[in-house]
Amino acid sequence: MDCPVISRHSKNWPNGACCSLVLWSTKVIRAKVLLNPLPCRSTGDDDVAIKILFCGICHSDLHSIKNEWGNAIYPIIPGHEIAGVVTEVGKNVTKFKAGDRVGVGCMVNSCQACDQCSSGFENNCPGMIPTYNSVDHDGTITYGGYSDSVVVNERFVVRFPDGMPLDKGAPMLCAGITVYSPMKYHGLNIPGKHVGVLGLGGLGHVAVKFAKAFGMKVTVISSSPGKREEALGRLGADAFVVSKNADEMKAAMGTVDGIINTVSANMPLAPLMGLLKPTGKMVMVGLPEKPLEIPPFNLIMGNKTLAGSCIGGMRDTQEMLDLAAKHGVTADVEVIGADYVNTAMERLAKADVRYRFVIDIGNTLNKDSTAASQ
Ligand SMILES: [Zn+2]
Ligand SMILES: [Zn+2]
Repeated sequence: MDCPVISRHSKNWPNGACCSLVLWSTKVIRAKVLLNPLPCRSTGDDDVAIKILFCGICHSDLHSIKNEWGNAIYPIIPGHEIAGVVTEVGKNVTKFKAGDRVGVGCMVNSCQACDQCSSGFENNCPGMIPTYNSVDHDGTITYGGYSDSVVVNERFVVRFPDGMPLDKGAPMLCAGITVYSPMKYHGLNIPGKHVGVLGLGGLGHVAVKFAKAFGMKVTVISSSPGKREEALGRLGADAFVVSKNADEMKAAMGTVDGIINTVSANMPLAPLMGLLKPTGKMVMVGLPEKPLEIPPFNLIMGNKTLAGSCIGGMRDTQEMLDLAAKHGVTADVEVIGADYVNTAMERLAKADVRYRFVIDIGNTLNKDSTAASQ
């Protein structure tokens, strides 16, 4: 396949020497390694240039490349769980220097001026720019972490603390902050409280680890009885409820203070709201395709709250990573080579991964990674 013609060249983005995995098609997912495929941004005064060493594969990557959200700008370089090393900084950069271990998560820009930005919630800024498949304020298209380098404004770069590995830490930039932020802001990080984690996947397994690190009681709620052993054993959950088992659900009624709902499939919410104690909260972080169905009765009785949460601000992202390093919380990963991305996407679509694929960009993404284009 030929290199696509990019019409939106910016003066600031001369053709650089990127080596990237580019994903193109809506129906058949095929990644291809290209040298110099897309314009790379040069390092501006406020920018940090990063040599990418690892990038996690998030389910959002799959949604985006299949255009399931209807907003694909092809070709796409996905990836918003980026970990690497600083190679160069612009003259205004004060927080980072060459050689620092850093990460980039789900956003790379915002208006940096509104109330939300000023109070550390860039994730809620109307001008927030996602890390890939978006058009930045200067008109350039953003490209993500399935690439050997990226240039990002200093504000949107976080430091990897000592002891936080780059491979197991990369998924924390999306999965980690996505569950940490609602736990923090909905009081689900208090020792002794009881939290339910709905869905044991990329997000859910990190939520369980954070909850145990916070000294909480954790119940995993899953539709897969086969995950019981892992939840109660290695991940250290206190209880496991099969959501399709009426007896188990009944026994767990009114027991949890809050639920982090990581499931992206549509499922009836009423029985799940029944698991909450009075004044309990369910926070949605998964994105089911269809609108939610919840009888108002199930919210009103017991004064319950149904809430949503979208990643987290940059200050909270750094705080999350520091706290994770302190408590040894990392993602369970399967590290893969760049030539395995197509297979990984197929497996991800079947939820056949425990719990996150991470691409070893540093060692495997190069001009010899031809298998990815086969
Ligand atoms: Zn993600
Ligand atoms: Zn803003």
